[in-house]
Amino acid sequence: PISLSRVGKTFGKLSVLGNFNLDVPAGQFLAVVGRSGGGKSTLMRLIAGLDTPSSGRVAIGGRTVERLHPSVRLLFQEARLVPWQRVGENVGIARGPDWQEKARRTLADVGLEDRENDWPSVLSGGQRQRVALARALVSEPQILLLDEPFGALDALTRIEMHRLLERIWTDRGFTTVLITHDVAEAVALADRVVVLSGGAISLDIAVDLDRPRRELADPRAVDLQRQ
Ligand code: ATP
Ligand code: MG
Repeated sequence: PISLSRVGKTFGKLSVLGNFNLDVPAGQFLAVVGRSGGGKSTLMRLIAGLDTPSSGRVAIGGRTVERLHPSVRLLFQEARLVPWQRVGENVGIARGPDWQEKARRTLADVGLEDRENDWPSVLSGGQRQRVALARALVSEPQILLLDEPFGALDALTRIEMHRLLERIWTDRGFTTVLITHDVAEAVALADRVVVLSGGAISLDIAVDLDRPRRELADPRAVDLQRQ
C-alpha cells in the first residue's frame, strides 16, 4: 500500500502539491487525472522515490520512501529501451536461467514471444511499449506506476494496450497508479479515479466494479460515487 500524508512539494516559489493526502490500498488500480502542469508526474516521482517531498511523508508498506523501492516499476510515454540491446536483453533474459524463463514468459504475456532477438529499432511504437511493459513486469513488482503510457500511441493500439494491461493486472494483481489525460481511459481501466487540481485531490471516485469493465468505456455508464 502507498500512503502520502500531508505531502507538500515546491520548486522554488512554485507550490505544486500542498498538504496532499492519498492512500492507495494494495492491489488497487488508481487513475490520476488533471490538467497539464498540475503535478501528476511530480506525484509519481515522489511515490517512486525519484524525488523527495518538501514536507510530509511518502510511505510504501509503512516505510518512508527514500529511493526507488525494489518492488516499484515505472512506465513512461516513451519506452526508453536500451537501443543496443535486443528485446530479450532489454527484459533481462541474459541475467541467468531464472530470468530467462521469467523474461520469456513475460514477453509471451505481452504478445511478443517471437521477438526476443529483434532490435528495438525494428519494432513499432506499440511493440516497443509492450517490451517496456514486459521489462517493468518481469521482476514481478508489487507496484506499477504508469505516466501517460499510451499517450503516444494511435487509438487502436491504445485499445489493444488497455486490454493487455487489464488482463495482466487481473492476473497478477499489483497495485497500479495510472496517470492519464484521458478520462475515458481512466474510467475504463481503474477502480478508482482521483482528480488532481490546485495541488490537492478535488474529486475521488470509486468506479463500480460489479459492472463488466469493458462497458465502462462510456463514462456515462459509470456510477460516479463521491467519497
Ligand atoms: P503534464 O500533464 O503536462 O505531464 P503534470 O501534471 O505531470 O503535467 P508536472 O510535470 O508534475 O505536471 O509539473 C508540475 C509543475 O511543476 C510544472 O509547473 C513544472 O514546470 C514544475 N516542475 C516539475 N518538476 C520540476 C523541477 N524539477 N524543477 C522545477 N519545476 C518543476
Ligand atoms: Mg506529466
